[in-house]
Amino acid sequence: MKALVKTERSGGLTLTDVPKPAIGPNDVLIEISKTAICGTDVHIYDWNDWAKRTIPTPMVVGHEYCGTIKEMGSEVTGLEIGQRVTGEGHITCGFCRNCRAGRRHLCRETVGVGVNRPGAFAEYLCLPSINVFKLSDNVSDDIASFMDALGNATHTALSFNLVGEDVLITGAGPIGVMAAAICRHVGARHVVVTDINDYRLNLAVKCGATKALNVSGGDATEKLRKVMKELNMTEGFDVGLEMSGVPSAVHSMLETLNVGAHVGLLGIPSQPFPINWDHVVFKGLVIKGIYGREMFETWYKMQSMLVGGLQEKIMPVITHRPAGLLVLEILGYKSRTAAVVV
Ligand code: NAD
Ligand code: ZN
Repeated sequence: MKALVKTERSGGLTLTDVPKPAIGPNDVLIEISKTAICGTDVHIYDWNDWAKRTIPTPMVVGHEYCGTIKEMGSEVTGLEIGQRVTGEGHITCGFCRNCRAGRRHLCRETVGVGVNRPGAFAEYLCLPSINVFKLSDNVSDDIASFMDALGNATHTALSFNLVGEDVLITGAGPIGVMAAAICRHVGARHVVVTDINDYRLNLAVKCGATKALNVSGGDATEKLRKVMKELNMTEGFDVGLEMSGVPSAVHSMLETLNVGAHVGLLGIPSQPFPINWDHVVFKGLVIKGIYGREMFETWYKMQSMLVGGLQEKIMPVITHRPAGLLVLEILGYKSRTAAVVV
């Protein structure tokens, strides 16, 4: 079969032939119909330090996709050949304490599809059946092809009570933009999104952000305080969702959060950096690190929200629909958002 493979330990990907995966008794074989590009794929394409440390080669990449079940192992139950599906990209051990307690997103042995084992930028993908997620007929292929990333946004946003709350999202990448849509969908009052890229900030507004703020040049905290005044927010943000991984974004968030605020940290900083702990201690902040999606509550809630109107709200996040090999060019395109391959 054809697949996009990291063949060399350097930048780029190669479209080449690889053997069709063989499935085990608990696996399914998914015929891929549509895929999307995650930031992780771009890191692998670029071959940054994280990729050098993490990716064995050769590796078929990609973990955002939807498709149909073509084959099932002898032990698989509850699924059918021909079913439309997507899949959770974190394969967990099933035996560690967290897995056995139903907290699979906290498994110590997590393995990533398209990162540590063959991925979905290929004609077929082998996936353990427990990771398969059945798609509603009411969720389009376009949206179904990036539910792993949407799941990151969903997991982060739904970690907190949002009804009537004022939310600050730092970073208007695909995940920040989708998180803005989710926060509004579930009843947040004001959702302010910051970034340094106007193109992306515009997408955040299209997805429902109350206010999008470009923080490049000048003092981000001062700019945020001005927006808070405009919106008549007297006390500070109730919830902060950090989705940039950038130290200055974290600083301005800590400065503008209300006392007792809740914070979700999804963004991955490129290196460690100091913060002003006074804000954390004296404001009594509740901080939660987020990795991946809750298995499988995030998936259940995500599909319910999509069918209940979220699907239309996040459509602006699909910015490119390249055919075939053009995906390679999009992978190198820096101001990308999500791109669906048709
Ligand atoms: P992305 O890189 O596309 O988006 C990050 C955004 O932050 C960019 O638009 C960038 O312009 C913006 N930014 C840069 N400087 C800023 C500043 N000073 N203030 C505000 N925004 C600023 O990433 P993404 O795909 O949307 O993912 C968001 C983050 O979450 C990334 O850091 C990514 O590595 C991380 N991530 C974490 C998980 C997890 O499981 N924890 C999963 C996926 C992605
Ligand atoms: Zn485990």
